Amino acid sequence: MPMEALIERIVREGQGIGRGVLKVDSFLNHQIDVALMDEIGRELAGRFAGHSVTKILTVESSGIPVACAVSRAMGYLPVVFAKKAAPNTMVEGVYSTDVKSFTKETVSTIRVSRKYLQPTDRILIIDDFLAYGESAMGLTRLVKNAGAAVAGIGVVIEKQFQGGSGKLKEAGYLVESLAVIRSITDGNIEFI
Ligand code: 5GP
Repeated sequence: MPMEALIERIVREGQGIGRGVLKVDSFLNHQIDVALMDEIGRELAGRFAGHSVTKILTVESSGIPVACAVSRAMGYLPVVFAKKAAPNTMVEGVYSTDVKSFTKETVSTIRVSRKYLQPTDRILIIDDFLAYGESAMGLTRLVKNAGAAVAGIGVVIEKQFQGGSGKLKEAGYLVESLAVIRSITDGNIEFI
């Protein structure tokens, strides 16, 4: 079930640009509407209630506020975000994997310290957008490397036409999206 308040907001303020990119800087990716973010958190939390989630995993930077909102709605579960740069404070062992970025047309290595993913964990992967699924797939690889389980993947906006959700579902993952976009053409956004 789509989240109506979110869809209304995308219709009002979202801008379709280029080859299938949606810009939602006014409430999600640059300026943040925290009340809407908390609603998003409650909605995603509800979809994964009963899945015995122990920890939330996302990737910096725009996944972080979403993951924190989900955490608040799930009794303050720990949030871990994969880092895209290798800070010199990350001296201990890490799990890492390469991820292609569609919006930036680059490949980046994402990494998480080994001490924050345990084999006993059931991880909920959270992100703002699901496009080709590169980022979410990369996060599932980090979870697998740690011997932990993926409880599911929750995203705010899915662009179905880019195929990421299909790929993740085929791989056996439970995927939940609050708004699903069928197409973006000439700035026109069509929802499912
Ligand atoms: P994927 O890895 O699924 O191809 O893309 C997901 C990542 O790329 C998300 O973490 C998000 O930051 C970024 N992304 C993909 N498509 C869009 C888009 O249309 N708009 C914005 N703002 N970010 C996007």
